Amino acid sequence: MKVQILDSRQLKAEAKRLGFSHVGLAPAERVPDDVVSDYEEWLEAGRQGEMHYMENHLELRRDPRLLLDGARTVVSLAMSYHPGEGPTQKGIAWYAQGRDYHEVIRQRLQQLMKIISPLGGTEGARICVDTAPVMEKYWAWRCGLGWIGRNRQLVIPGEGSAFFLCELLLTREADCYDTPLFDNPMFAGCGNCRRCLEACPTGALSESGLDARRCLSYLTIEHRGELPDDVRPLLSECFYGCDRCLRACPHLAKAKGTPVEEFRPSPSLLEMTPEDWQRLSPEQYRELFRGSAVKRAKYEGLRRNLGLDASSSE
Ligand code: SF4
Ligand code: SF4
Repeated sequence: MKVQILDSRQLKAEAKRLGFSHVGLAPAERVPDDVVSDYEEWLEAGRQGEMHYMENHLELRRDPRLLLDGARTVVSLAMSYHPGEGPTQKGIAWYAQGRDYHEVIRQRLQQLMKIISPLGGTEGARICVDTAPVMEKYWAWRCGLGWIGRNRQLVIPGEGSAFFLCELLLTREADCYDTPLFDNPMFAGCGNCRRCLEACPTGALSESGLDARRCLSYLTIEHRGELPDDVRPLLSECFYGCDRCLRACPHLAKAKGTPVEEFRPSPSLLEMTPEDWQRLSPEQYRELFRGSAVKRAKYEGLRRNLGLDASSSE
């Protein structure tokens, strides 16, 4: 059977209709050795902390064709979670104030596949929403979405980094592929700017990269056990995740609010006062964060971040 060539314009138009703000395509090829070796050096230095899943499947990270037999195309997509002018809850990273992005984005990618697939399904495709070992920032750069900034996130020119990234791997070849905006994936559009490094309150971000073990985002979400003494006083401003480096980026200035209703903070979250946080019961926690990414920190973790004894309210 003759395989239909993928219509890149149709794919981009339909993806944008589904709320993806930036979409690019690249041929599925091996990731260059220097990109992989930088990642391996970062792991060898132990900068991933306890996120041991990042050490797994290095061979698959090198080559998307090992994740999907016969893959010919990588599609990189970005969906904004910027709250725009709307209200937000202080202390929780923007990305975590709405519904869990894994679920929302997966459903939309499945819808996209139904529209663009000749058979109306996910045959010959793999959907990756943080669930597969993909070098996603590299692919976003390769597909022409932006560059990797000194904040170690993808920066989209004039819009910053408040985006979820995801990928589609497809066995179909596309009629047209995108080219990177810059020759080099790293810092290409940052120029002399170092605002994100200056904004980081713990020194987790430096010229040599991100040390997750010092990052408030990692410490408040991924890390189990005690928190370092010197970060505790910082947590009244960020008890679940941290946006300081993201918000410091001048490219964020013109970003618009997300068109995706599910990523806006729920009314019950917005109503929470500092006193309410201090009294949060396990039942309220479950109700408040039903369908939210915050569940990852667990009730005890959230209370630890809030400086409370996990056992005192149970
Ligand atoms: S998320 Fe916060 S702590 Fe982590 S690197 Fe950015 S500014 Fe630093
Ligand atoms: S704040 Fe400046 S250095 Fe950091 S990512 Fe943005 S442009 Fe680059």
